[in-house]
Amino acid sequence: MARTYSTEAVVMGSHKLGDADRVVTLFTAARGKVPTVVKGVRKVTSRFGGRLEPFTHLQAQLHEGRNLHTLTGADTVRTHAVIRDIPSALKAGLAFIDMLNRATPDFERHPRTFNLLVNYLDEMDAARRNAGGDDGGVSTFTRITLAAGLKLLLLAGILPHLADCAVCGSGEGLPRFSAQAGGALCEDCAGESFLVLPGTLETMRLLLELPLSGAAGVSMVEQTSREVWRAIREICRFHLGADLRVEP
Ligand SMILES: [Zn+2]
Repeated sequence: MARTYSTEAVVMGSHKLGDADRVVTLFTAARGKVPTVVKGVRKVTSRFGGRLEPFTHLQAQLHEGRNLHTLTGADTVRTHAVIRDIPSALKAGLAFIDMLNRATPDFERHPRTFNLLVNYLDEMDAARRNAGGDDGGVSTFTRITLAAGLKLLLLAGILPHLADCAVCGSGEGLPRFSAQAGGALCEDCAGESFLVLPGTLETMRLLLELPLSGAAGVSMVEQTSREVWRAIREICRFHLGADLRVEP
């Protein structure tokens, strides 16, 4: 039987449905990822207005349907407009949303993932003063996004080995990484894998151990940032069959 419920939710994105409606993807506290119909949203007089922009944190009222739920009410908790206004924040934010979208099935409740998303958006907001802050060219937004991406791998149960060789367990000198082999690799076990800078695995461990608020303080050069993202991307491709095309 169809029924109505209220939940906190974050707007992930949307696409058109017919002439007047949209399907908005919400990540909700109560039901996980929920494809949601918003009726009449493209009319000038729509009562939802700008509340359906990506990253907006809402208190939403929804009505259950078979494949799609319907949005019947929405109050803004936070707009997170700053993430849309700063290009480097927008790019990083869309990369995380893309990853989240591919890592989570519809209608599967996951409160810890919802908390990570809310925490992530709050930290991105808080980082605006450091926007463009130079640390080898890696923006604060990228660092927070890499940390959130690794934490998402942890919550999805697909975190790779980082402290020892995924094949032989050796903790000495781990110069390579392979998603297929399970993570870091020593020189002897290196099959099909890519070379990482000496500090990359340590950076990944640090980003995982620190709370998200600590990620802004983790310094890294651009190549480290690229390698961390490559590791995340290859893990997602191997475990989820997901091709992450948006880079943070
Ligand atoms: Zn080994």
